[in-house]
Amino acid sequence: MTPHKRQTPSHSGLEVEFSPGEYQSSLKSRKAFKSGEILTFLQGLTRSRKAYSTLQCGIGPDDHVELNSDFLYVNHSCDPNIAFDLSSSDTSKWHVRALRPIADGDRITCFYPSTEWEMDQPFQCECGTKLLHWSFVSVLLMTCSKSCLGVIRGARYLSRKQLSARGFINSWILTLAEHRDKTKIDQPVASQNKGL
Ligand SMILES: [Zn+2]
Repeated sequence: MTPHKRQTPSHSGLEVEFSPGEYQSSLKSRKAFKSGEILTFLQGLTRSRKAYSTLQCGIGPDDHVELNSDFLYVNHSCDPNIAFDLSSSDTSKWHVRALRPIADGDRITCFYPSTEWEMDQPFQCECGTKLLHWSFVSVLLMTCSKSCLGVIRGARYLSRKQLSARGFINSWILTLAEHRDKTKIDQPVASQNKGL
């Protein structure tokens, strides 16, 4: 789609592609990244109330941050190519990391439940439609391990197996999922969008 708006990129090698419509814009790479490469360390984050634009950064009710950069435009995918790693107790080490090779022109995507226990705004994921363009073997592999999960409500509504298939999940999400499964007092409820 042709960008209709331009701005100075907040990070070199990345550019926002603005598209008409709510939540249609996306962040694209303008260079190649290797698997495991750090795209950037996250700077300029500010604490905020939970919102569609924030990242959860811990287990507490106030552990949410605004990115204040072009990374706001990273869309969700059930087969993500980057992860926001905010697991370190040293916030200067929080970073964005490539989970697999990223080519120049690729859309940057992350798995929202890797940070979000409960999404502020659940939504219907349509990343699965892209699988139609992939090779048969890729489709088969994706079907087995990382098929589209449909409505994304947050990690609370996913099994630990579904979470671990996504390459990287932040520590507090794994802690919460373990606690949920151990106590069996907070089982996923498919029809429930909000909790707590
Ligand atoms: Zn999906």
